[in-house]
Amino acid sequence: MRMRKSLGQHMLVDRRVISRIVRYAELSEDDVVLEVGCGTGNLTSAMLRECKVVGIEKDPAMVELLSKKFSKFVEEGKFRLIQGDALKVAFPPFTKFVSNIPYKISSPLTFKLLKSDFRLAVVMYQREFAERLCRDDNRLGVISKTYCRAELLEVVKSNSFNPPPKVDSAIVRIVPEPEVEVRDRELFEKFVTFAFSMKRKKMGNIVREFKKRYGIDVALEENLAEKRPEELGAEKFAEILVEE
Ligand code: SAH
Repeated sequence: MRMRKSLGQHMLVDRRVISRIVRYAELSEDDVVLEVGCGTGNLTSAMLRECKVVGIEKDPAMVELLSKKFSKFVEEGKFRLIQGDALKVAFPPFTKFVSNIPYKISSPLTFKLLKSDFRLAVVMYQREFAERLCRDDNRLGVISKTYCRAELLEVVKSNSFNPPPKVDSAIVRIVPEPEVEVRDRELFEKFVTFAFSMKRKKMGNIVREFKKRYGIDVALEENLAEKRPEELGAEKFAEILVEE
């Protein structure tokens, strides 16, 4: 089959990487995998040997190709395909999320995943995104730690894809157990977002600006006033409270 390069989509073609992803996901017969962006179905095919798969794919041409390629699995009830935008359609029930996702929706898709019920996720991201997700010196990393533990398993070179993207990718394991407990999620997310939008400022200053902007007095440990948001860590952010 001829690859349609105009889509700007990068199909994962390295079989060794595909089989490692399947291994990381520890799939068993009673798993139902949700795969977003099945593309030409290379990863899908490897997973269908282990368990049921539900795919969400936006591109009608890919949907047609996948329906033909996996018609036997569809008949057997092992593969189901939902045509649509993964950010818009409701996620069907699933036990694990395993995908080489469309990178441009990494952030909203990850938060949609984190708000769903699942046991384990193994996700291919752009390397830079994967690294931010696994650290806690940035908004994405700090907020995600109140939903899950994320661990970077391996960096994947761009020549594992066809066509090769400009940047490296990385595989991340996500376990939906909060690394830190948050007291007031709404306040926490609002404050974290605000703090990281004011990068060069120190926390004491950020707390004052937050009060000016939203009229909310927040309590944060006093000795943090001289620190910058990227030095604070998820745990300290999570302790934030409205000052009584
Ligand atoms: N998983 C495949 C393809 C990855 S490319 C592989 O490993 O080879 C990303 C795929 O996501 C493409 O097939 C593209 O059509 C699909 N896609 C892009 N945006 C999407 C969206 N919002 N919802 C669902 N699928 C999407």
